[in-house]
Amino acid sequence: MNTANQSWQSFVPPSVSLYHVDHRKDLDEHEDLQEQCIRKNSLDVIHEAVFDWYMEQERENLTDTIDEIERKMSEDGRYEEFKEHAEEISDLIYERNDTDPTEDLIRHSTVTNLFYSLGVEIDGYSACSNTRGESEAMACYKVRRALKLKKGQYDDEILELVQNASYGGELRIYFNAMFDKLLTHNQDADFRTIRFHGDVVVAIADSRNGSGYDITLPIDITFPFKRDNLFVDSQVHYSYADEICGMSNDWCDSTLWETSMKRSKSHIPTSTMTEHQLQETAYEKTFREGKCTFGDMNYKRHRNTFYINDFPCGSKCPHCGTFWID
Ligand SMILES: [Zn+2]
Ligand SMILES: [Zn+2]
Repeated sequence: MNTANQSWQSFVPPSVSLYHVDHRKDLDEHEDLQEQCIRKNSLDVIHEAVFDWYMEQERENLTDTIDEIERKMSEDGRYEEFKEHAEEISDLIYERNDTDPTEDLIRHSTVTNLFYSLGVEIDGYSACSNTRGESEAMACYKVRRALKLKKGQYDDEILELVQNASYGGELRIYFNAMFDKLLTHNQDADFRTIRFHGDVVVAIADSRNGSGYDITLPIDITFPFKRDNLFVDSQVHYSYADEICGMSNDWCDSTLWETSMKRSKSHIPTSTMTEHQLQETAYEKTFREGKCTFGDMNYKRHRNTFYINDFPCGSKCPHCGTFWID
């Protein structure tokens, strides 16, 4: 074929696939990255990870495509022209790339268990005195007020929730979502409200000690959207669904939700979990650096702990002095 009148551009295929994401590959095992995306309202951390995961594949596919163009142009006696435009050819290949590994990985992923904290702490029974920090009636009132329920509405269910969450904890709404649906990718224009309806899963969970309870209420309620109160459940220690209850992924499917950009006048308190999470991250970091922190009660983040048989009995870390009383 005489290609003398063709431009070098016509040797670059109209569409190129620089990536192929295996159908079994998804982000389900990367809820830590999902959590970071939610925190930062951006997919950047996943783009960075994807860049590492697919860099080699991209390089191979790019080289193969370039080699093929070089071969065809050389056959037509246009090797010099190929050499001359080498850089532009590779730019054009990128431009004509039709695959986005991040998109594919998200498409292959399943929903994630998330919770929206209402920023309300319910006191539990203290182990020694066997009394609650607040009366049961007060705890029920706090739940009702946070859920904007009238007196008498779902009283039995709320009493069930409060009584069974005997260690107290944070009031949360659990729901399932594709994590990327909770991003606006714009720090200056975040969602303004989040609405929950359907059969809404309401829980009181204590992530510090690992306990909690949940109920389902057929309510329809809209809260101001506060990103700091939104969490990937598995990334909070203890996670309620996974570590505390061992539930299957679909357990909170019955909660329906929608975000909106409509302005909201109401406020909700900030969850204390953000602070807890930062603390956990700091403890983990110290541990990975070979050290430990006094006051970190997670036994696994200390080394060479030993048992003291004298009063008061318990275990002690020789490095930082943290003591676990029996
Ligand atoms: Zn696919
Ligand atoms: Zn220690």
